[in-house]
Amino acid sequence: MPRNETRNTTKMHPFSFDPWRLRETQFDTGINYLAETLFALGNGTVGLRGTHEESYLGPAGTSQEGNYLNGFYESEAIHYPESAYGLAHTNQFMLNLPNAKRVELWLDDEQFNVTEGQVSAYERTLDFRTGILTRTVRWTSAKGKEIILTSERLVSFQRRHLFAIRYQITSVNFAGPAYLTSAIDTEVKALSVPGDPRVGSSQSGATLQLQQIVQTAGFCALEHRTANSGFHLLSAMSNEAHGWQLIERDPGVGKIAEAQSVQQQFFRTLQVGETARITKYGCYFSSRDFPAEELKERSQSYLNDAKISGFDVLCLEQKNYLADFWRQTDIEIAGDAALQQGMHFNQFHLLQSIGQDGKTNIAAKGLTGEGYEGHYFWDTEIYVFPFFLYSKPEIARKLLEYRYNILDQARERARQMSHEKGALYPWRTIAGEECSSYYPAGTAQYHINADIAYAVKQYLDATGDDQFLVDCAAEMVLETARIWIGLGHFSPLHPERFCIDEVTGPDEYTALVNNNYYTNSMAKMHLKFALSIVAKLGSAYPADYQRIAQKIALTAEEVAIWDAAARQMYLPYDESLGIHAQDDSFLSKKQWDFAATPKDKYPLLLHFHPLVIYRHQVCKQADLMLAMLLLSDQFTLEEKKRNFDYYEKVTTHDSSLSYCIFSIIASEIGYHDKAYAFFMETARMDLDDTHHNTRHGVHTAAMAGSWMCVSYGFAGMRVIDGQPRFNPTLPKQWSHYQFQIHLHGCLLQVRVTALEVSYRLLEGSELNLQHAGQTVQLNQNHRLQRCTVNLKAD
Ligand code: BGC
Repeated sequence: MPRNETRNTTKMHPFSFDPWRLRETQFDTGINYLAETLFALGNGTVGLRGTHEESYLGPAGTSQEGNYLNGFYESEAIHYPESAYGLAHTNQFMLNLPNAKRVELWLDDEQFNVTEGQVSAYERTLDFRTGILTRTVRWTSAKGKEIILTSERLVSFQRRHLFAIRYQITSVNFAGPAYLTSAIDTEVKALSVPGDPRVGSSQSGATLQLQQIVQTAGFCALEHRTANSGFHLLSAMSNEAHGWQLIERDPGVGKIAEAQSVQQQFFRTLQVGETARITKYGCYFSSRDFPAEELKERSQSYLNDAKISGFDVLCLEQKNYLADFWRQTDIEIAGDAALQQGMHFNQFHLLQSIGQDGKTNIAAKGLTGEGYEGHYFWDTEIYVFPFFLYSKPEIARKLLEYRYNILDQARERARQMSHEKGALYPWRTIAGEECSSYYPAGTAQYHINADIAYAVKQYLDATGDDQFLVDCAAEMVLETARIWIGLGHFSPLHPERFCIDEVTGPDEYTALVNNNYYTNSMAKMHLKFALSIVAKLGSAYPADYQRIAQKIALTAEEVAIWDAAARQMYLPYDESLGIHAQDDSFLSKKQWDFAATPKDKYPLLLHFHPLVIYRHQVCKQADLMLAMLLLSDQFTLEEKKRNFDYYEKVTTHDSSLSYCIFSIIASEIGYHDKAYAFFMETARMDLDDTHHNTRHGVHTAAMAGSWMCVSYGFAGMRVIDGQPRFNPTLPKQWSHYQFQIHLHGCLLQVRVTALEVSYRLLEGSELNLQHAGQTVQLNQNHRLQRCTVNLKAD
């Protein structure tokens, strides 16, 4: 383990360990940037960073305003001074929207700001069960005016374009005029961190062009158009004044300067002890969802409806939605409060980030920041998908529908890559076009096709959703399977074997290699899956088979080649070391000198030219380990152990996607301490900011990875061809743990204690599973089965 020993997950940090809340009790510009990510709110459509309502006056570089709409992007030409045929030519990036949550408060001639005056009490809480972000500040101005200010904020899970803020002031000693300005302002800059590829290029030039400003007493909006992608955006607000008086003319205070803002100013006289509030309803709509000419009216009626319901009703809706979510997904871990908080925080942020409309997906950083430019990667299918599949399968379906909806772009990309047939999904994208400007660690990751097919298979196996099979899945899987034949060949070097050259596997510190084990083995799975679909459609849905085969011009000869390639797929193995080889050349390379690499040279990608890294045996992340998880039954336990022992030593875990996979395999092979240590690196990655870049957004893949560590890792769950197996262990740090799984229309609760593993059918009528090799049958008469174990043996 070259690196992770250096990380310290138990370091002091400013948030208390509360299982259901994230809470900070002092405002600190030193951690403000990070906190803005952690306190972000979202609903998979709209995302608001946890910036304060008021303008930020702290030191430069300690804040990033951010408000996002999933899937709303600008595009820009990628400039390659030395270009080449077929390189991705246009980048798409998630746009930072006008800030519609802005509120400013003046007490007579003094403006409230948390960075000025004196703060005698401060508390900010994000509650995972209510979905409300609450901030309370007791503040005294330079001239001695004292107030208590409470702002509550939500991004509605039930009304996907809506957010709301209740802003409340109680005067402690001040009597006099108060002014409050509610605004949508455009003084928002995109994030730019030169030299860090994990952040991205950031846009140049004006991207949002103002089309119109709407300002009426009950409704204010800004309409913008993106310069290149040509989308319209409507950012709107409606304020409920609760006794404040809307001021028509600028009184000298209470006005925000920006030229392109829309704002409303309110006035009232405050008495000592009096409480006054204002409720702000805001929304974002774009022409990616609705015709541009409808956006204004839609926003208007949306905000009207919200106002009629009122803030309390929105809170109630939020609470109900979350109660249902937690009923299905809650992971309970007894014995470690910090960890319990980490798990809930991760699950909550996954829900906040996930696109649920079939047109959007989940960005690597969710809707919490601009890291990786809001792109969707394979992170979705291999990391995030299992959490939703086994928690909320209807959301998992939407993620696959998204892929189906960009199938045409994938076909187009395949042609650009000289494949006569089939479809090649982009390595990173928003709307479907390849956006990777560095092809060795981008387009070369052809495994994306198999990753998507794998997720489709998991989905069909778990749900039996044949409608999806005939409507979308079959076409998608067959079209993408074709790529392997166009890409690989029967090589004379490995007689009778099907080989795949010049690809990059999951490990991005090894690029453009022949026969990456992960890619080849997943391609084999993909081809076999495609064959099984052909067989199933042929027998069960012949008319659909006809229709699809005709649409994509599929021939029997082609299917026969799939069969041969799958059967003869080359899977590299090193006899002398007794391990599987990551690819044809990995094991013959020079090993990286970890002893001579100081801590501050990690992550290597920020300190060494890619070629220096590529020519060494060094991994950024789990690669072969991942094959051992996804294709678990294709390796013996002994092989898993030997592979783990070898690859652990050469892996830096510079990718946040790595630890969780190592943790799961470590659990399986009985390396319990390692399993726990790797898990801890994942479970609180963002809360503890262990990768030092959470300010740019949360790590959604790792968050979902922490869920996998518990279910796949400690509980030993594998679902193979739809059949669930468990082989639970209990980390010695815990007294018990419990989680739920959705499978075949049932909701199963798994509870593991030192003496007993119980399986309880919470919903559904029948489910069979394997517990440590024994069959457990659950049905309406036997909803609970207890299996006696002794898990505290060591
Ligand atoms: C990882 C990729 C991942 C990307 C986005 C990179 O650091 O190496 O596997 O897809 O981050 O999360």
